[in-house]
Amino acid sequence: MHAMILKKIGAPLEWTERPDPLPGPGEIRLKISACGVCRTDLHVVDGELPNPRVPIIPGHEIVGRVDMIGPGVGGFDIGERVGVPWLGHTCHVCGPCLGGHENLCDHPEFTGFTRDGGYATLAVADARFAFPLGEKGEDAALAPLLCAGLIGWRAFKIALRCAGRIERLGLYGFGAAAHILAQVATRQGHEVFAFTRPGDLASQDFARTLSAVWAGGSDEEPPEKLDAAIIFAPVGALVPAALRAVRKGGAVVCAGIHMSDIPSFPYALLWEERQLVSVANLTRRDGLEFLRLAPELGIETTTKIYPLSDANRALADLRAGVFDGAAVLVP
Ligand SMILES: [Zn+2]
Ligand SMILES: [Zn+2]
Repeated sequence: MHAMILKKIGAPLEWTERPDPLPGPGEIRLKISACGVCRTDLHVVDGELPNPRVPIIPGHEIVGRVDMIGPGVGGFDIGERVGVPWLGHTCHVCGPCLGGHENLCDHPEFTGFTRDGGYATLAVADARFAFPLGEKGEDAALAPLLCAGLIGWRAFKIALRCAGRIERLGLYGFGAAAHILAQVATRQGHEVFAFTRPGDLASQDFARTLSAVWAGGSDEEPPEKLDAAIIFAPVGALVPAALRAVRKGGAVVCAGIHMSDIPSFPYALLWEERQLVSVANLTRRDGLEFLRLAPELGIETTTKIYPLSDANRALADLRAGVFDGAAVLVP
């Protein structure tokens, strides 16, 4: 197999040939057809997440076809198209797992971070954490659903739970996750307000093409108070900005895995029962729900395709914000 491997934190990924991996008990092997590039991959490469493991093959938005099935696996056929997300394995016995919060497992494994991911031609996955994808939709178009889509969906559900009702939803950082969630929220009857880097008029136009009723810079206040806001950009300074933009009893949800420090802010921004919460990882239920919902709602992803060997360029372009939507690597 071939893979783009992170051998040293902060170093470019290296194009490497390796022996083909074999699926162990409970595992399946996929021949990869597409893998999305997520902002979390930048945090992995930069060593910004705790306990980084190298060498590692990044990538946790994997679309591929089952080409080998390990002992003890039922429910998958050779040739079946499946997706593999960030949550790669949980222990099933810790407090969070037993309490129905497997996203908070004490002994988790994460695809492309603690177990090898999808910047490769082959990957091995725990079969219990792989989602059947069916045959509808192109491989590359589905890849961003597996993290950007899922985490946006989980963040949106939590925003609804906290805020109670949402007419006006703010999205801070209009990248891969927001461009999917904007479609979901609009189709479910919510108004979307998109906040981009100040001056990024192209992303603001892009948000309007996806039915955002308002788009502006993150330094602007929306024309009306929001019921909830979700922050996708890894910028702590957006927390007080978003709190300022939401109504009494509204919610601000931080959806990223890593964020720069949050600056201090007046208590008045949180006062009046505004809620500030974070979202961590996903549960398989989120995945099954969202992957059923996305085709029903006719969600379309905007993708920029790179050859697998160009993964470093894809990461650099993501960092610089040079494309709209999501980058996808294709072997
Ligand atoms: Zn657990
Ligand atoms: Zn991700």
